[in-house]
Amino acid sequence: MHIEVRGLNKKFGDFQAVTNVNFEIEKGQLIGLLGPSGGGKTSILRMLAGLETVDEGDIVFHGKRVNDLPPQERGIGFVFQNYALFKHMTVTDNIAFGLEVKKWSKQKIKERVAELVELTGLSGFEKRYPHQLSGGQRQRVAFARALAPEPQLLLLDEPFAAIDAKIRHELRSWLREMIDRLGITSIFVTHDQDEAIEVADQIMIINKGRLEQKGTPWEIYKNPESPFVASFIGESTIVEDVAALRGFGGPDDLSGAKALIRPEYVEIGKAADFELLSATETGRVRHVHFRGSEWLVEVEIGAAKLVTYRSLEKEILQPGDEVRVLIHRAYLFNDTDSWVV
Ligand code: ATP
Repeated sequence: MHIEVRGLNKKFGDFQAVTNVNFEIEKGQLIGLLGPSGGGKTSILRMLAGLETVDEGDIVFHGKRVNDLPPQERGIGFVFQNYALFKHMTVTDNIAFGLEVKKWSKQKIKERVAELVELTGLSGFEKRYPHQLSGGQRQRVAFARALAPEPQLLLLDEPFAAIDAKIRHELRSWLREMIDRLGITSIFVTHDQDEAIEVADQIMIINKGRLEQKGTPWEIYKNPESPFVASFIGESTIVEDVAALRGFGGPDDLSGAKALIRPEYVEIGKAADFELLSATETGRVRHVHFRGSEWLVEVEIGAAKLVTYRSLEKEILQPGDEVRVLIHRAYLFNDTDSWVV
Protein backbone atom coordinates (compact mmCIF):
# COMPACT_ATOMS: atom_id res chain seq x y z
CA MET A 1 0.00 0.00 0.00
CA HIS A 2 1.25 3.47 -0.89
CA ILE A 3 1.16 5.85 2.06
CA GLU A 4 1.24 9.60 2.21
CA VAL A 5 1.23 11.71 5.34
CA ARG A 6 0.83 15.49 5.08
CA GLY A 7 1.21 18.11 7.78
CA LEU A 8 0.59 15.74 10.67
CA ASN A 9 0.21 17.41 14.08
CA LYS A 10 -0.73 16.02 17.47
CA LYS A 11 -1.02 17.63 20.89
CA PHE A 12 -1.63 15.95 24.23
CA GLY A 13 -3.00 18.80 26.34
CA ASP A 14 -0.48 21.60 25.87
CA PHE A 15 2.27 19.22 24.82
CA GLN A 16 3.08 19.16 21.12
CA ALA A 17 3.96 15.48 20.56
CA VAL A 18 4.07 15.52 16.72
CA THR A 19 4.86 18.64 14.65
CA ASN A 20 4.22 19.03 10.93
CA VAL A 21 5.34 15.57 9.83
CA ASN A 22 5.30 14.85 6.08
CA PHE A 23 6.38 11.68 4.28
CA GLU A 24 5.57 9.24 1.54
CA ILE A 25 6.16 5.49 1.54
CA GLU A 26 6.24 3.31 -1.57
CA LYS A 27 4.42 0.00 -1.61
CA GLY A 28 6.38 -2.95 -0.23
CA GLN A 29 8.96 -0.93 1.69
CA LEU A 30 10.09 -1.61 5.21
CA ILE A 31 10.44 1.68 7.07
CA GLY A 32 12.16 2.15 10.41
CA LEU A 33 10.95 4.97 12.65
CA LEU A 34 14.02 5.68 14.72
CA GLY A 35 14.65 8.16 17.48
CA PRO A 36 15.08 8.75 21.19
CA SER A 37 12.42 7.90 23.72
CA GLY A 38 9.51 10.32 23.84
CA GLY A 39 10.21 11.65 20.34
CA GLY A 40 6.77 10.84 18.96
CA LYS A 41 7.36 7.56 17.07
CA THR A 42 4.55 5.64 18.74
CA SER A 43 2.17 8.57 18.39
CA ILE A 44 2.78 8.64 14.62
CA LEU A 45 2.23 4.88 14.40
CA ARG A 46 -0.97 5.06 16.43
CA MET A 47 -2.35 7.82 14.22
CA LEU A 48 -1.62 5.72 11.12
CA ALA A 49 -3.44 2.84 12.79
CA GLY A 50 -6.42 4.98 13.77
CA LEU A 51 -5.83 4.32 17.46
CA GLU A 52 -5.18 8.01 18.06
CA THR A 53 -7.01 10.98 16.55
CA VAL A 54 -5.20 13.43 14.29
CA ASP A 55 -5.27 17.13 15.25
CA GLU A 56 -4.19 18.41 11.88
CA GLY A 57 -3.01 16.85 8.63
CA ASP A 58 -3.95 14.05 6.26
CA ILE A 59 -3.23 10.36 6.30
CA VAL A 60 -3.68 8.95 2.81
CA PHE A 61 -3.61 5.24 1.98
CA HIS A 62 -3.64 4.35 -1.68
CA GLY A 63 -4.82 7.84 -2.64
CA LYS A 64 -7.69 7.78 -0.14
CA ARG A 65 -7.83 9.95 3.00
CA VAL A 66 -8.38 7.63 5.96
CA ASN A 67 -8.38 10.10 8.89
CA ASP A 68 -11.97 9.27 9.72
CA LEU A 69 -11.85 5.51 9.15
CA PRO A 70 -11.86 3.31 12.28
CA PRO A 71 -8.81 1.05 12.78
CA GLN A 72 -10.55 -2.14 11.62
CA GLU A 73 -11.38 -0.56 8.26
CA ARG A 74 -7.85 0.60 7.46
CA GLY A 75 -6.43 -2.77 6.36
CA ILE A 76 -3.72 -2.74 9.02
CA GLY A 77 -1.95 -5.44 11.01
CA PHE A 78 -0.37 -4.48 14.33
CA VAL A 79 2.46 -6.15 16.28
CA PHE A 80 3.30 -4.81 19.73
CA GLN A 81 6.41 -5.12 21.86
CA ASN A 82 4.77 -7.22 24.56
CA TYR A 83 3.26 -9.88 22.25
CA ALA A 84 -0.32 -9.04 23.32
CA LEU A 85 -1.31 -12.64 22.67
CA PHE A 86 -4.41 -14.10 24.27
CA LYS A 87 -3.03 -16.19 27.11
CA HIS A 88 -5.92 -18.62 27.26
CA MET A 89 -5.79 -19.38 23.54
CA THR A 90 -3.57 -21.78 21.61
CA VAL A 91 -1.29 -20.69 18.78
CA THR A 92 -3.96 -21.73 16.27
CA ASP A 93 -6.72 -19.82 18.05
CA ASN A 94 -4.56 -16.73 18.43
CA ILE A 95 -3.83 -16.70 14.71
CA ALA A 96 -7.46 -17.40 13.83
CA PHE A 97 -8.85 -14.69 16.11
CA GLY A 98 -8.98 -11.83 13.61
CA LEU A 99 -10.47 -14.10 10.95
CA GLU A 100 -13.29 -15.19 13.22
CA VAL A 101 -14.06 -11.56 14.04
CA LYS A 102 -14.27 -10.98 10.28
CA LYS A 103 -16.57 -14.00 9.99
CA TRP A 104 -14.41 -15.98 7.59
CA SER A 105 -15.73 -19.49 6.92
CA LYS A 106 -14.34 -22.36 9.06
CA GLN A 107 -12.65 -23.89 6.03
CA LYS A 108 -10.98 -20.64 4.93
CA ILE A 109 -9.78 -19.99 8.48
CA LYS A 110 -8.27 -23.46 8.68
CA GLU A 111 -6.41 -22.97 5.41
CA ARG A 112 -5.16 -19.50 6.28
CA VAL A 113 -3.95 -20.56 9.74
CA ALA A 114 -2.09 -23.52 8.22
CA GLU A 115 -0.47 -21.20 5.70
CA LEU A 116 0.70 -18.82 8.41
CA VAL A 117 1.93 -21.56 10.73
CA GLU A 118 4.05 -22.78 7.84
CA LEU A 119 5.23 -19.29 6.86
CA THR A 120 6.27 -18.34 10.38
CA GLY A 121 7.96 -21.67 11.14
CA LEU A 122 5.54 -22.64 13.91
CA SER A 123 4.67 -26.15 12.70
CA GLY A 124 4.36 -28.50 15.66
CA PHE A 125 3.47 -25.66 18.05
CA GLU A 126 -0.17 -25.22 16.97
CA LYS A 127 -1.68 -26.56 20.19
CA ARG A 128 0.62 -24.72 22.59
CA TYR A 129 -0.39 -21.81 24.77
CA PRO A 130 1.69 -18.60 24.89
CA HIS A 131 3.33 -19.53 28.21
CA GLN A 132 4.65 -22.72 26.58
CA LEU A 133 6.56 -20.73 23.93
CA SER A 134 9.84 -18.82 23.90
CA GLY A 135 9.85 -15.05 23.46
CA GLY A 136 10.89 -15.37 19.83
CA GLN A 137 8.15 -17.92 19.10
CA ARG A 138 5.54 -15.75 20.78
CA GLN A 139 6.57 -12.83 18.65
CA ARG A 140 6.24 -14.98 15.54
CA VAL A 141 2.70 -15.91 16.63
CA ALA A 142 1.96 -12.20 17.07
CA PHE A 143 3.32 -11.62 13.57
CA ALA A 144 1.21 -14.49 12.13
CA ARG A 145 -1.88 -13.19 13.88
CA ALA A 146 -1.33 -9.68 12.51
CA LEU A 147 -0.83 -11.02 8.98
CA ALA A 148 -3.75 -13.47 8.99
CA PRO A 149 -6.46 -11.09 7.76
CA GLU A 150 -4.22 -10.10 4.79
CA PRO A 151 -3.53 -6.50 5.82
CA GLN A 152 -2.01 -4.08 3.34
CA LEU A 153 0.09 -2.33 5.95
CA LEU A 154 1.92 -3.85 8.88
CA LEU A 155 2.77 -1.67 11.89
CA LEU A 156 5.28 -2.96 14.42
CA ASP A 157 5.94 -1.10 17.68
CA GLU A 158 9.35 -2.08 19.11
CA PRO A 159 8.66 -5.68 18.05
CA PHE A 160 11.92 -7.09 19.36
CA ALA A 161 12.53 -4.94 22.41
CA ALA A 162 11.54 -7.62 24.93
CA ILE A 163 13.65 -10.37 23.35
CA ASP A 164 17.20 -11.59 24.14
CA ALA A 165 19.98 -10.07 22.06
CA LYS A 166 20.81 -13.28 20.17
CA ILE A 167 17.23 -14.18 19.25
CA ARG A 168 16.53 -10.55 18.46
CA HIS A 169 19.24 -10.73 15.85
CA GLU A 170 17.71 -13.82 14.25
CA LEU A 171 14.24 -12.32 14.32
CA ARG A 172 15.45 -9.20 12.54
CA SER A 173 16.73 -11.12 9.53
CA TRP A 174 13.66 -13.30 9.67
CA LEU A 175 11.40 -10.23 9.55
CA ARG A 176 13.38 -8.81 6.65
CA GLU A 177 12.92 -12.05 4.71
CA MET A 178 9.20 -12.23 5.49
CA ILE A 179 8.60 -8.67 4.33
CA ASP A 180 10.54 -9.30 1.12
CA ARG A 181 8.58 -12.45 0.47
CA LEU A 182 5.17 -10.92 1.20
CA GLY A 183 5.85 -7.50 -0.33
CA ILE A 184 3.75 -5.87 2.38
CA THR A 185 4.39 -2.23 3.27
CA SER A 186 5.64 -2.19 6.85
CA ILE A 187 6.63 0.40 9.42
CA PHE A 188 8.43 -0.47 12.61
CA VAL A 189 9.30 1.69 15.58
CA THR A 190 12.66 1.26 17.26
CA HIS A 191 15.10 3.26 19.30
CA ASP A 192 17.88 0.85 18.35
CA GLN A 193 19.94 2.30 15.52
CA ASP A 194 21.60 -1.03 14.64
CA GLU A 195 18.18 -2.58 14.20
CA ALA A 196 17.01 0.22 11.92
CA ILE A 197 20.22 0.23 9.88
CA GLU A 198 20.22 -3.54 9.45
CA VAL A 199 16.58 -4.08 8.59
CA ALA A 200 15.02 -0.98 7.05
CA ASP A 201 14.85 0.10 3.40
CA GLN A 202 14.40 3.65 4.60
CA ILE A 203 14.84 5.21 8.00
CA MET A 204 12.89 8.15 9.34
CA ILE A 205 14.64 9.88 12.21
CA ILE A 206 12.10 11.29 14.64
CA ASN A 207 13.16 13.72 17.32
CA LYS A 208 11.06 16.03 19.50
CA GLY A 209 8.00 15.38 17.38
CA ARG A 210 9.67 16.27 14.11
CA LEU A 211 10.87 14.22 11.17
CA GLU A 212 14.56 15.16 11.08
CA GLN A 213 15.57 13.12 8.04
CA LYS A 214 14.32 10.34 5.79
CA GLY A 215 16.56 8.21 3.62
CA THR A 216 18.25 4.86 3.18
CA PRO A 217 20.42 3.84 6.13
CA TRP A 218 23.49 4.55 4.03
CA GLU A 219 22.34 8.02 2.94
CA ILE A 220 21.58 8.98 6.51
CA TYR A 221 24.85 7.60 7.78
CA LYS A 222 26.94 9.25 5.10
CA ASN A 223 25.13 12.55 4.70
CA PRO A 224 23.37 13.51 7.91
CA GLU A 225 21.44 16.76 7.55
CA SER A 226 21.58 17.90 11.16
CA PRO A 227 23.92 17.58 14.12
CA PHE A 228 21.27 15.52 15.85
CA VAL A 229 21.11 12.94 13.06
CA ALA A 230 24.88 12.87 12.74
CA SER A 231 25.34 12.09 16.40
CA PHE A 232 22.36 9.74 16.69
CA ILE A 233 23.42 7.39 13.89
CA GLY A 234 26.74 5.57 14.10
CA GLU A 235 29.59 6.07 16.50
CA SER A 236 31.27 9.42 16.62
CA THR A 237 33.22 11.87 18.68
CA ILE A 238 32.59 15.58 18.69
CA VAL A 239 35.60 17.83 18.42
CA GLU A 240 35.03 21.33 19.73
CA ASP A 241 36.70 24.28 18.02
CA VAL A 242 37.58 22.62 14.78
CA ALA A 243 39.57 25.66 13.62
CA ALA A 244 42.43 24.29 15.66
CA LEU A 245 42.55 21.13 13.54
CA ARG A 246 44.43 21.21 10.28
CA GLY A 247 43.66 19.60 6.98
CA PHE A 248 39.94 20.18 6.56
CA GLY A 249 38.39 21.46 3.36
CA GLY A 250 35.17 23.43 3.52
CA PRO A 251 34.64 27.06 4.37
CA ASP A 252 37.63 29.22 5.21
CA ASP A 253 36.29 30.54 8.45
CA LEU A 254 35.88 27.64 10.79
CA SER A 255 35.90 29.59 14.02
CA GLY A 256 33.17 28.36 16.32
CA ALA A 257 32.53 25.25 14.24
CA LYS A 258 32.48 21.77 15.73
CA ALA A 259 33.37 18.54 13.97
CA LEU A 260 31.69 15.19 14.32
CA ILE A 261 34.12 12.45 13.40
CA ARG A 262 33.40 8.76 12.90
CA PRO A 263 36.00 6.17 13.89
CA GLU A 264 36.17 4.65 10.42
CA TYR A 265 37.19 7.95 8.86
CA VAL A 266 40.22 8.27 11.09
CA GLU A 267 43.61 6.75 10.43
CA ILE A 268 46.34 6.70 13.00
CA GLY A 269 49.90 5.54 12.88
CA LYS A 270 53.35 6.10 14.21
CA ALA A 271 54.79 9.45 13.13
CA ALA A 272 57.00 7.91 10.45
CA ASP A 273 54.01 6.41 8.60
CA PHE A 274 52.58 9.82 7.83
CA GLU A 275 55.67 11.96 7.63
CA LEU A 276 54.96 13.29 4.17
CA LEU A 277 51.35 14.24 4.80
CA SER A 278 50.61 17.75 5.94
CA ALA A 279 46.97 17.13 6.82
CA THR A 280 47.71 15.34 10.02
CA GLU A 281 47.56 16.10 13.70
CA THR A 282 49.82 14.93 16.42
CA GLY A 283 47.99 13.01 19.08
CA ARG A 284 48.58 10.78 22.04
CA VAL A 285 46.86 7.46 22.71
CA ARG A 286 44.77 7.74 25.85
CA HIS A 287 43.01 4.38 26.10
CA VAL A 288 42.82 1.14 24.19
CA HIS A 289 39.56 -0.76 24.74
CA PHE A 290 38.88 -4.33 23.68
CA ARG A 291 35.45 -4.64 22.12
CA GLY A 292 35.25 -8.33 21.25
CA SER A 293 35.95 -8.21 17.54
CA GLU A 294 37.99 -5.03 17.49
CA TRP A 295 39.94 -2.53 19.50
CA LEU A 296 38.83 0.98 20.09
CA VAL A 297 41.61 3.49 20.47
CA GLU A 298 41.05 6.89 22.02
CA VAL A 299 43.44 9.56 20.94
CA GLU A 300 43.96 12.95 22.50
CA ILE A 301 44.79 15.82 20.21
CA GLY A 302 45.79 18.97 22.09
CA ALA A 303 44.03 19.57 25.36
CA ALA A 304 40.74 17.74 25.21
CA LYS A 305 40.06 16.60 21.69
CA LEU A 306 39.35 12.95 21.36
CA VAL A 307 39.12 10.86 18.26
CA THR A 308 38.26 7.21 18.35
CA TYR A 309 39.54 4.60 16.03
CA ARG A 310 38.90 0.91 15.57
CA SER A 311 41.97 -1.17 15.20
CA LEU A 312 42.46 -4.87 14.73
CA GLU A 313 46.08 -4.77 15.75
CA LYS A 314 46.35 -3.64 19.31
CA GLU A 315 50.03 -4.47 19.67
CA ILE A 316 51.00 -1.48 17.62
CA LEU A 317 49.53 1.02 20.04
CA GLN A 318 49.75 1.53 23.76
CA PRO A 319 48.40 4.30 25.99
CA GLY A 320 50.88 7.17 25.99
CA ASP A 321 52.16 6.53 22.45
CA GLU A 322 52.53 9.55 20.26
CA VAL A 323 50.71 9.11 16.95
CA ARG A 324 49.88 10.99 13.79
CA VAL A 325 46.17 11.30 13.07
CA LEU A 326 44.65 11.63 9.60
CA ILE A 327 40.99 12.54 9.36
CA HIS A 328 39.51 11.60 5.98
CA ARG A 329 36.02 12.84 6.45
CA ALA A 330 34.14 14.87 9.02
CA TYR A 331 30.78 16.45 9.56
CA LEU A 332 31.25 20.11 10.47
CA PHE A 333 28.60 22.34 11.94
CA ASN A 334 28.08 25.65 13.68
CA ASP A 335 24.89 27.33 14.91
CA THR A 336 23.52 27.93 11.44
CA ASP A 337 25.17 25.59 8.95
CA SER A 338 26.61 22.14 8.42
CA TRP A 339 29.00 20.66 5.88
CA VAL A 340 30.41 17.24 5.19
CA VAL A 341 34.10 17.60 4.27
P1 ATP B 1 9.18 5.69 23.23
O1 ATP B 1 10.33 5.21 22.42
O2 ATP B 1 9.53 6.01 24.65
O3 ATP B 1 7.94 4.87 23.09
P2 ATP B 1 8.12 7.55 21.30
O4 ATP B 1 9.08 8.22 20.39
O5 ATP B 1 7.32 6.44 20.76
O6 ATP B 1 8.83 7.15 22.64
P3 ATP B 1 5.59 8.70 21.97
O7 ATP B 1 5.17 7.51 22.76
O8 ATP B 1 4.94 8.95 20.68
O9 ATP B 1 7.16 8.71 21.80
O10 ATP B 1 5.37 9.96 22.91
C1 ATP B 1 5.68 11.28 22.49
C2 ATP B 1 5.37 12.23 23.63
O11 ATP B 1 3.96 12.33 23.80
C3 ATP B 1 5.94 11.78 24.97
O12 ATP B 1 6.43 12.90 25.64
C4 ATP B 1 4.74 11.21 25.69
O13 ATP B 1 4.85 11.38 27.08
C5 ATP B 1 3.59 12.00 25.11
N1 ATP B 1 2.35 11.21 25.07
C6 ATP B 1 2.15 10.11 24.35
N2 ATP B 1 0.90 9.64 24.50
C7 ATP B 1 0.29 10.47 25.38
C8 ATP B 1 -1.03 10.54 25.97
N3 ATP B 1 -1.97 9.65 25.66
N4 ATP B 1 -1.25 11.54 26.82
C9 ATP B 1 -0.32 12.46 27.11
N5 ATP B 1 0.92 12.47 26.61
C10 ATP B 1 1.23 11.49 25.75
